[in-house]
Amino acid sequence: MITLALSKGRIFEETLPLLRSAGIEVLEDPEKSRKLILATNQADVRVLVVRATDVPTYVQYGGADLGITGKDMLLEHGSDGLYQPLDLQIAKCRISVAVRADFDYASAVRQGSRLKVATKYVAIAREFFATKGVHVDLIKLYGSMELAPLVGLADAIVDLVSTGNTLKANHLVEVEHIMDISSRLVVNQAALKLKQVPIRRIIDAFAKAIDDCHSGSMDCGSSPQ
Ligand code: AMP
Repeated sequence: MITLALSKGRIFEETLPLLRSAGIEVLEDPEKSRKLILATNQADVRVLVVRATDVPTYVQYGGADLGITGKDMLLEHGSDGLYQPLDLQIAKCRISVAVRADFDYASAVRQGSRLKVATKYVAIAREFFATKGVHVDLIKLYGSMELAPLVGLADAIVDLVSTGNTLKANHLVEVEHIMDISSRLVVNQAALKLKQVPIRRIIDAFAKAIDDCHSGSMDCGSSPQ
């Protein structure tokens, strides 16, 4: 049995064409089913539906053989014991610093003020501001980061940005682009040895699908950053 850990939403949707290219069809829609283990058309392949933050943990400890997770998750939660053979170039976005449109970020940074920064990505934010030599107080949040500057909880947020519509709707502006993010295939190292043939087959099919996407011979949908 090969077990693949996926999170619901954009990663799940954008993984389906890659799975199809490996001859794998997921038989249920996780948005409609309450099941957490989904069967596929291949009797020996199943999909686990887990929280995005938990994908590296499931794969690291062998609860899943493979997983698909954002670079943001790997940087934030660590990638010990995970083999990362492919950047799948799906769920592309960027991680940025944003502030209220009326907040003078450039002056605050220039004057050496201590910034209050709210984020789910404490490790990434800490590293980014340390490299810039900016003093920050980090406030850990688990969602709706955009609210924090609006109610005075923070001066800035560090969050994922795709189209920029969420920032715009909340009168926030992007002031720093920290890095580009995309999803990675991660593999449990013991599973790679024990189940080498079927896992290699999936890795190779995914790699070919990514190449086909780039060469234009496969329609991979739009993927705004
Ligand atoms: P957007 O309005 O398109 O810029 O999307 C921003 C919102 O979607 C923010 O709340 C982000 O946390 C979330 N988001 C954007 N891209 C991703 C992604 N690739 N994975 C997970 N969440 C994302």
